[in-house]
Amino acid sequence: MTDVTAHAARILREVFGYSSFRGQQAEIITHVATGGDALVLMPTGGGKSLCYQIPSLVRRGVGVVVSPLIALMQDQVAALREAGVRAAYLNSTNSWADAQAIERQVRAGELDILYVAPERLMTERCLALLDAAELALFAIDEAHCVSQWGHDFRPEYLRLAVLAERYPNVPRIALTATADELTRKEIVARLALASPRVFISSFDRPNIRYRISEKDNARRQLLQFIREEHAGDSGIVYCFTRNSVDETAEFLRQNGIDALAYHADKEHGTREEHQSRFIRDDGVVMVATIAFGMGINKPDVRFVAHLDLPKSIESYYQETGRAGRDGLPADAWMVYGLADVVQQRRLIDQSTAGEEYKRISTAKLDALLGLCETIECRRVQLLAYFGEASSPCGNCDNCLSPPEEWDATEAAQKLMSCIYRCERPSGIAFGAQHIIDVLRGQRTAKVLQYGHDEVSTFGIGADISAAQWRSVIRQLVMLKLLRVDHESFNVLRLTAASRDVLTGRRSLRLRRLPERAARERKGRRTANRSPEALAGVANGGTTAPHSEPVFQALREWRRNVAREHGVPAYTVFHDSTLLEVSRVLPRTLDDLRGVSGIGATKLDRYGERLLEIVRSAAAPAGAGG
Ligand code: ADP
Ligand code: ZN
Repeated sequence: MTDVTAHAARILREVFGYSSFRGQQAEIITHVATGGDALVLMPTGGGKSLCYQIPSLVRRGVGVVVSPLIALMQDQVAALREAGVRAAYLNSTNSWADAQAIERQVRAGELDILYVAPERLMTERCLALLDAAELALFAIDEAHCVSQWGHDFRPEYLRLAVLAERYPNVPRIALTATADELTRKEIVARLALASPRVFISSFDRPNIRYRISEKDNARRQLLQFIREEHAGDSGIVYCFTRNSVDETAEFLRQNGIDALAYHADKEHGTREEHQSRFIRDDGVVMVATIAFGMGINKPDVRFVAHLDLPKSIESYYQETGRAGRDGLPADAWMVYGLADVVQQRRLIDQSTAGEEYKRISTAKLDALLGLCETIECRRVQLLAYFGEASSPCGNCDNCLSPPEEWDATEAAQKLMSCIYRCERPSGIAFGAQHIIDVLRGQRTAKVLQYGHDEVSTFGIGADISAAQWRSVIRQLVMLKLLRVDHESFNVLRLTAASRDVLTGRRSLRLRRLPERAARERKGRRTANRSPEALAGVANGGTTAPHSEPVFQALREWRRNVAREHGVPAYTVFHDSTLLEVSRVLPRTLDDLRGVSGIGATKLDRYGERLLEIVRSAAAPAGAGG
């Protein structure tokens, strides 16, 4: 270990209270701390912040962090100050007097880390300030914002190349969670990084459990999921329309869940207030359109639920990535059905964009549908999409309760002939429900009205449940072996490719809808959610029991401290730290020192208080050990 690396490890331990670096952190930090430029690609929650915070502390002078997200900047500074680091930010929210005081500190060399909004940084005043200061490094967070092709493009980012000319000897580190090759090249070129070392981490998020299932009654399914597995947890629920955001939030509230709504129609003030409650309080469920989420770095979001399909795997990955940044187990949970597929396809068809755009959008949607319908490990597919090879993960629904595959050739043939037979006499086509009624031999009014109890396919599919038929139809639509005609009341139509199935030239293996799986899975998942299991993941498998009264007392205390300091609860201590304390039940400050997330400053500031809480909360129940 070099001196610099050892110095960095000491800061990691003493300031941040962590015992070891994660992934490539040590290498990145050593490289930047010794003056090199770097480009860091790491998934959300991977631990990018330490990659510039620690070098800022190792090197002389102030580390300047460019960040486009004001809320995030404020929370990071709050967390650093809690850990005893001399940090501040300059953005549009500072008062004049405040800004002056910070500028004075910079000149006097009294700050370790300064966060600056990019437009602020580019002002002559700010550059003059930096000219007069000793600079440790520049960190450019969310560096993909320089990409003109990306959806987060920020014109001010293009001007950051100035830093290379004006401060040629100050190392620069650019960081992003956006992985693709094109963006990577753009970042290096536009920021004029000097032969940077590029650090690419795996994009796997092993603590996130991916689960995708058939939509049945989406809101009920969601409610059951939250009640059984995430009572009292923070989570995000994504819905496609503003209406369904409002309705879903209302539905959850009526059922006793602390849910808030967030979308672009809401008044600005309400939106801000909801966002800040979500970040600051424990256990709020945010129901939102995808307008919500950028720049939310709340570490303890325990689940992200999708009630509607995202547009692509990229969106799915980005949205689900907001769960479990703290490394503790989290769920990415989604339900989807035929209507979602139809809706997304219709949106693409009806968009006024060019053919190229439609072609790409269709391909992206198809890739996502492939992920939904796969019977293989979800994670393997997800990572493969980003060009990463892996093996079955053991932490997705398909690994945990492998879905059955079945030979659905004959069923598909029955279905297709039924569609054909029903349409033939009158020339009128029908929707999925009617076709299923005919197949299952149901004499509904509509079946009788059209005389479909007389067609040869009436009742030939009675052995398959209606839900299973819906699943078959959805998969055939996804495979483009059937088409839903959204110009004509969503009726089902055969496609050119249907013929191959009908004639037996093509056989089909489909995913079988698990009839009883929900019940079986329940028990196992509840077990997984115990705090012991939670802590087990964070601590390499130790699953010593923790004291629930101590844990709750600690959370209560944390809530109060956070409120007093006007900071989010997680900047005081993470859940993982409180859990460990309630497991170790420390008696002395020395016992506390070993707990992950307790650095020197926090030990000083809160150590005695933590010991007191442990003593009094553990006493009644913990008498026997
Ligand atoms: P990113 O910016 O990449 O999304 P963060 O820098 O916010 O991720 O880090 C995610 C979480 O992981 C934070 O809560 C952070 O405190 C924690 N973390 C980062 N590095 C370590 C480490 N070496 N040991 C323990 N926890 C870490
Ligand atoms: Zn898996």
